[in-house]
Amino acid sequence: MSIFTTKLGIDLGTANTLVYVPGQGIVLNEPSVVAVSLMDNKVVAVGVEAREMVGRAPDTIMVYKPMKDGVIADYRITEAMLHYYITKALGRFNIFKPDVMVSVPAGVTSTERRAVIEATMKAGAKNAYVVKEPILAAIGAGIPIYDACGHIVVDIGGGTTDVAVISLGGIVSSTSVKHAGNKIDQAIADYIKKNFNLAIGDRTAEEVKLAISSAIPLDDELSYLIKGRDFVTGLPRSVEIRTNEIVRAIDNELKEIIRAIKVVFQDTPPELSADVIDQGIILTGGSSQLRNLAELIYRKTGVKTYLADEAIYCVAKGTGIALEHLDVYKRSIISKR
Ligand code: ADP
Ligand code: MG
Repeated sequence: MSIFTTKLGIDLGTANTLVYVPGQGIVLNEPSVVAVSLMDNKVVAVGVEAREMVGRAPDTIMVYKPMKDGVIADYRITEAMLHYYITKALGRFNIFKPDVMVSVPAGVTSTERRAVIEATMKAGAKNAYVVKEPILAAIGAGIPIYDACGHIVVDIGGGTTDVAVISLGGIVSSTSVKHAGNKIDQAIADYIKKNFNLAIGDRTAEEVKLAISSAIPLDDELSYLIKGRDFVTGLPRSVEIRTNEIVRAIDNELKEIIRAIKVVFQDTPPELSADVIDQGIILTGGSSQLRNLAELIYRKTGVKTYLADEAIYCVAKGTGIALEHLDVYKRSIISKR
């Protein structure tokens, strides 16, 4: 890598935004959150700092999750977020404009992807490239995407689960559903509310999930002491919850994820699906790391399922790999400037 070109790959996730620099790895990993002052409509904080304001900000500050549900809900805010990440990743003294690759959801319209390119250029890029997220997830998972043999990639993030069959560097069939980490957290909070009369926040529900959840009942259950607020008395109270209760609580959400995989299999041409089944299902994204999820998907689909290495970093790694080998991956770039 020449010192005169800086390359930045950006994974704009619904939950987290990651910046990857070839040769250095992940240099930034912060929540996709932006705080805006309502008085003058200015961005006051991005990332970790903005997340700390969630639930604590005065009425004059609005906290946004611009990538919520996998669509770019607000371009002005997305641009501010890209500007923040690009500037922060480069450091204050860098005078060279970077080449930037940004991941976009598979379902983006041409207008949306042009807007991402514009926002990236405005944020200070020398060249901007856009590649669809499932392709980047596959590259980051080490899949040879230009094989004639098809592959199915299931990226389970915070807001969405994206399922795609990739063949010859393109997406043959795909779907995106709003069932992923956030809905799993919500299902845990709902269960605790219903069964224990205890109110818990999203962050606590996520903590429970990370600590003890599983997609399949465990013989040796784990347990977790939850501190919440009693619905009736309004006072703090704690309850102990065990893994197999969480398995039941999140069962419906996992069913929706598996349903999405089955839909994509049904949409895939028969010759290709034979290949895909031989290769197995590759899981990427933070929520794919849920305990025993690969095993559950295998049981429900009959197709061998593998969790990618460093599943939560696959898209970010994919942006970096694609940037380093632009000539190899040029056919998968859907917009550039
Ligand atoms: P996005 O790409 O949508 O920003 P990520 O791929 O970063 O999302 O994944 C974020 C989600 O992954 C969050 O909902 C988080 O709770 C979940 N997650 C992270 N690690 C684990 C884990 N070990 N088990 C289950 N869920 C996890
Ligand atoms: Mg993601």
